[in-house]
Amino acid sequence: MPRRILFLGPPGAGKGTQAAMLASALAVPHISTGVMLRDAVEAGTDLGREVAGIMEAGDLVSDDLVVAIVDERLAQDDARCGYLLDGFPRNVAQANALDDAVTDAIGTVVLLDVDTDELVGRLLARAQQEGRADDNEETIRRRLEVYHAETAPLIDFYGDVVLTIDGVGSIDDVFSRIALALAR
Ligand code: AMP
Repeated sequence: MPRRILFLGPPGAGKGTQAAMLASALAVPHISTGVMLRDAVEAGTDLGREVAGIMEAGDLVSDDLVVAIVDERLAQDDARCGYLLDGFPRNVAQANALDDAVTDAIGTVVLLDVDTDELVGRLLARAQQEGRADDNEETIRRRLEVYHAETAPLIDFYGDVVLTIDGVGSIDDVFSRIALALAR
């Protein structure tokens, strides 16, 4: 099983949920830049104050900032034997920075495929349940635009190592598809 895995997919595709399950199954750290940034906002750190407005608008925070927090996280002991990246890289510049930062290449990219109507429905439902600041209709639209313009080009960037997984279905069904594809 590959142990340096990257999750790719539009907002609402289920990356966070599936990445957490897989990281626990593989006993590697789940590194989510979205979670780290939201924690910083909640804790009111300098970083948090700097990024709060950008996140609320659905835009990407600067590459320098995220690359620095990911570099620091990957340098920790628990990431030595593998890790699962969720929400990073978000564009080609970040992917190049990751390439420069790590000696072992990313073995597998899991791309969760979910159509736009389903995504918007899921994100609006999540807005009601979790109250995330960036889960409102305007920001959701913006995040989807940013995904298509900035992040989707990574599918070609990673090319052969991309496993496209149908992300529609129950959490357990999607997880089984991912586990099966990785075991092949
Ligand atoms: P996520 O939880 O991955 O959907 O991320 C939520 C928000 O955090 C995004 O809309 C961005 O504002 C910011 N963010 C998370 N990861 C990145 C990243 N790799 N690069 C830039 N901004 C990010």
